[in-house]
Amino acid sequence: MNLRLDDRLQSARDRYVARRPASAELASAAAEYLPGGHTRTVLHFDPFPFRVASAEGAHLTDVDGNTVVDLLGNYTAGLAGHSPTAVAQAVAAALDSGWALGATHPDEIRFAKLMTDRFPAVERVRFTNSGTEANLMAISTARHVTGRDAIIVFSGGYHGGVLTYGTTGRAINAPFDTELATFNDLETVAAIMTARGSEIAAVLVEPMLGSGGCIPPDPGFLAGLRTLCDRNESLLIFDEVMTSRLSPGGAQQRFGVMPDLATFGKYLAGGMSFGAFGGRADILSVFDTSRPARGIAAGLEPLGHAGTFNNNVLTMAAGVATLEEVVTSDAIGALNDKGEGLRARLGEIFDRSGLEMSVSGLGSLMNIHPVAGPVRTPADLAHGDERLRELFFFEMLEAGYYLARRGFIALSIPVTSTELDGFCAAVRAWTESMSGVDV
Ligand code: PMP
Repeated sequence: MNLRLDDRLQSARDRYVARRPASAELASAAAEYLPGGHTRTVLHFDPFPFRVASAEGAHLTDVDGNTVVDLLGNYTAGLAGHSPTAVAQAVAAALDSGWALGATHPDEIRFAKLMTDRFPAVERVRFTNSGTEANLMAISTARHVTGRDAIIVFSGGYHGGVLTYGTTGRAINAPFDTELATFNDLETVAAIMTARGSEIAAVLVEPMLGSGGCIPPDPGFLAGLRTLCDRNESLLIFDEVMTSRLSPGGAQQRFGVMPDLATFGKYLAGGMSFGAFGGRADILSVFDTSRPARGIAAGLEPLGHAGTFNNNVLTMAAGVATLEEVVTSDAIGALNDKGEGLRARLGEIFDRSGLEMSVSGLGSLMNIHPVAGPVRTPADLAHGDERLRELFFFEMLEAGYYLARRGFIALSIPVTSTELDGFCAAVRAWTESMSGVDV
């Protein structure tokens, strides 16, 4: 007799719990002080998340002694892997010379030069503490220099905890005047511009939807946004917090479309807290306290940009080491090739299995979905069987591979080809085992 999917899921959950008594105990303790037992919601999953005791290279070991291959790479911030030597040494050296300076220091110049050399649309850059903050600053800058209030964003887009446009989490969004368009559908953007063109300060877009399911742009979509923004005199902002890894010069270089402003975060400071926004010098000149603003910002008073930790010594040192020594052009190229190979193999396994499962993404970023592909917009994901997604997550974890509960994978440099072979074998075995399950 065939096993029912619900029963198999319950038994996978039970096995997960049985192997993690120490994590279970810590989950109860955590809930005493942290609402829900966590302080970063995405890390929580029911019945409770495992708690990490140590991390090394591409491996995590939890407090119960279970070690897994880390395919999640801290939701892209861990591209360099755990404790990369060059970053650890740079941070150690910075600790030796003091870190709460309340003054400027040389490393912020070196890091800024590395960022502007690397990303073609970034003529000037300013540092923040997170990707969320970078986006808040970019939006606010765009509104200020254009003298317009509204922004266009995309359903399923994610730009931070208070800039979330997926199916959940919108209740605490920052109160910007926001219009929602559909990713990969230029008509929806054009229609908003027709209705409210003179009010639209900027279009804010992830060049590939990341949290929304790793949905790549259709050919011409980003270039089309560029044209629409030019025609409407609105700014184009690329949120490259995730996509900056898709080529050495980010998605802007990969797709050959230059935004006016771009935002960054995640891996660029080797895993330390980090964010940045940058772009056209004439726009950023509004923060130049020594000279009159130029270009689009001409005539505007210089703005302040505050932030106690904007030039955080440890982050700046880590960023320099990361860009100079770890996340080199060659390393980015090799990692994206590895990701293309993995995605092709996973796609083939799911196609052959007959299951309603697929994988989408670009380079080293991908998402496994409980729907048959192709996935072009978030609406294509609406009818997936969430039980399949959860079962896949728990059974991959049991096989020794950690990906996000939602199926997201962000490869990091230390993940080996042998480990990816092992993961593909585990996925194949899983799809075969599903043939006896009544979905
Ligand atoms: N933008 C994108 C595209 C992101 O993926 C994220 C984080 N997942 C953010 C912004 C927010 O960055 P942070 O978590 O550093 O605030």
